[in-house]
Amino acid sequence: MDNAKIFAEYPFLKEGIKVFGNISLNELFTSERYSQSREYAIYLIEKSLGEKKEFFTMDYETKYLGYHLARLILSYFHDPILNARFANFYRDILEENFKNENSLEMIKKISESFSLNFSIREENYYLSVYDYIKYNKKLGEKYRLFYQRLSSGYVYFNLKAEKEKIGKILREAFVNYFKNDLESIEPPDSLYYNFKNYIEHLKKLRDEKISTYTPGEFGEVNENAFPPCIKAIIRSILKGENISHNARFSLVAFLNQIGMSKENILKIFQSVPDFDERMTEYQVLHITGEKGKTVYSTPKCSTMELYNLCVKNETKDQLCFKDWMTHPLIYYKIKSKSNISPGSK
Ligand code: SF4
Repeated sequence: MDNAKIFAEYPFLKEGIKVFGNISLNELFTSERYSQSREYAIYLIEKSLGEKKEFFTMDYETKYLGYHLARLILSYFHDPILNARFANFYRDILEENFKNENSLEMIKKISESFSLNFSIREENYYLSVYDYIKYNKKLGEKYRLFYQRLSSGYVYFNLKAEKEKIGKILREAFVNYFKNDLESIEPPDSLYYNFKNYIEHLKKLRDEKISTYTPGEFGEVNENAFPPCIKAIIRSILKGENISHNARFSLVAFLNQIGMSKENILKIFQSVPDFDERMTEYQVLHITGEKGKTVYSTPKCSTMELYNLCVKNETKDQLCFKDWMTHPLIYYKIKSKSNISPGSK
């Protein structure tokens, strides 16, 4: 495999710079030679936001530089949701490469890049239990520690027969690596000047795409991550206070969108003073789309304010004052991923 291809497939490897040269930012941002790389970077970010565009390139330099330009552009936003979307999107591209990687030397380099505590001995890949449980959480039942083979504090996999498992762990390690990597980048001043139109376009796309959710997207319900407005409604219910129709609607829509079961939603309402089981059930089924065709969405923060349900000025939760905090589900998403620290733009 030639070096250019390796670094186009694994652009996060530090040695890539030796192959593609130390290019100045000015050249990268303005030279005609790199216009395809700039387009590829934007394409990658758009794609990570769900755009259905296609961009075909086999040019290794374009792939390598496109990835690094995308990192720089994302660093400008300081937006944990954009970063997480991109990390997850790129993770899936890498997973294919990881699973098909035959070179032990390359698996070693990749693992070192992600700072994994690992070793390769005979025909096995050993990973410390600590790292394994850090990265197996999103991988489903068969990846539970209970089902893995262990040896002196390490989980181990056969390098030939269990390539898929190794690939999945590496892809999750990439997500963590990428988020940390972006936090360490200081976007250059010339970035906005040269990418102004792209950046404004991406801002619009982000606002349009980020408030779309699918039920169940959030996995297990994490009550600690509920936004202050939702916690306040639940507190009122638990205190036995009557809550407004809007509060009831917002709570049901929110709980449904984060994947809580109808039964559990109903249980929360059992403390409401005027609890009427049949009526509440009817409302819950209506809002969650089981009766009728519409699944109602949680209102945006601006609507919550109009309903007098936003409590950010009382709770002073700093996350609520970020200018990208436009939706209670964004709050929940960020808080659920406690390893993401919110940025400032
Ligand atoms: S800013 Fe949004 S998430 Fe925070 S309390 Fe207000 S409505 Fe809820």
